[in-house]
Amino acid sequence: MLTTAPRGTSDILPSVTANWQQIESLIRDICLRYNYKEIRTPIFEHTELFLRGIGNTTDIVSKEMYTFEDRGGRSITLRPENTASVVRAYLENKLYADNYLNKLFYIGPMFRYDRPQAGRFRQFHQFGIEAIGSENPLIDAEVIALAVNLLQELGLTDLNVLINSVGCPKCRPVYKEKLQAFFQENLGELCKDCQSRYEQNPLRILDCKIDKCKQLSVGVPTLKECLCEECTTQFGKLQNYLAALGIKYKLDNNLVRGLDYYTKTAFEIQYLPLGAQSAVCGGGRYDGLISECGGNPTPAIGFAMGIERILLALQKQNLIKELASTVDVYIVATGEEANQEAIKLAVKLRKYALSCEIDFANRSMKAQMKAANKLQAKHVIIIAEQELQEQTYSYKNMLTSEQVSIKNQDLNMLLSKLGVDKEC
Ligand code: ATP
Ligand code: MG
Repeated sequence: MLTTAPRGTSDILPSVTANWQQIESLIRDICLRYNYKEIRTPIFEHTELFLRGIGNTTDIVSKEMYTFEDRGGRSITLRPENTASVVRAYLENKLYADNYLNKLFYIGPMFRYDRPQAGRFRQFHQFGIEAIGSENPLIDAEVIALAVNLLQELGLTDLNVLINSVGCPKCRPVYKEKLQAFFQENLGELCKDCQSRYEQNPLRILDCKIDKCKQLSVGVPTLKECLCEECTTQFGKLQNYLAALGIKYKLDNNLVRGLDYYTKTAFEIQYLPLGAQSAVCGGGRYDGLISECGGNPTPAIGFAMGIERILLALQKQNLIKELASTVDVYIVATGEEANQEAIKLAVKLRKYALSCEIDFANRSMKAQMKAANKLQAKHVIIIAEQELQEQTYSYKNMLTSEQVSIKNQDLNMLLSKLGVDKEC
């Protein structure tokens, strides 16, 4: 063997791709129902985009990015998340010119130099949405409803929806000062990262996963007390809408998105049985990001969901179905001339949307029948010496065991046995 896959990456094998496709097709279906359109951005971008779009003081930027110089000497980064890229694409392609509101979704791989463990990988996949152009908390409610709707339709129960408001550039500075005053006494006991967060971005201390920092955060002043009137009103409206939608939520004062361009609504959806990696979805408002990236001030909100974590959650709830690979028609053929007839017929039948398989190993008729059974073929067509001589096919329905001989000329008869009539 040449080598193994890099640490933190994995192959998605044919035995599970059907499960991925099921989730992806439900995502597409739900996005259609909520009128979100798909956007596909490059997997790598100029590093600068993420420095600005995510921010220097976040873990993602300070420790987790895959950054390299390309052969032209440019600094390139494999996307660690997709919001910054979507905002770049939105501005570069002037999507704002067509609609007052752009509702976009994406599905794809992201790359972070995280510490690999259950539910945490270096290449992982996210489904996310971004609604760009409205400050109305009604859209915040719709965004959360879409996420909950998807997870519920997948069959997940025991979801924990946490919400918070992180304020805006008017009210957050007041809170930052209060936080600094709160932590000042125990500054030396915070972890190294939190000590630098204390100076640069004290809100992120609340996001620290280290036990000691969590303990020291008990009893922190809440942002709620510092919210300005506008933020308070918006947060109140969001809660009313969620209640009207019957979405159960909990208020979590420590749920933060620590950068200045994250504003107002922040939310997370957890599936608690997953333990340490229980967050399946994280999102919030980023009203300041578009101007930070050079556009006109434009309000926006979005979320990202980890698809691997959704699969793990489905496993925990025994919701992963074994999806057997099946074919409609297996063509059994023996001998060179029959093989040629078989491939011709298979290619023809595939034009009628039938899934067909033939033998590529010159196996015996018995072995080919066994293969047809293993693939759970609904129909078998046999082409052997006698069939060639009589210019017929021997047709067998594997469910009813009905067997008939059909003239090669009589395609309609064959098609009617196979239950199709129109070419694709
Ligand atoms: P965490 O606190 O678990 O590191 P995060 O705050 O870094 O999460 P976000 O950037 O909000 O995560 O990403 C949204 C979602 O993407 C997460 O809720 C999670 O489901 C998924 N996710 C993030 N990082 C990884 C990873 N390394 N491996 C697998 N899934 C991930
Ligand atoms: Mg992380």
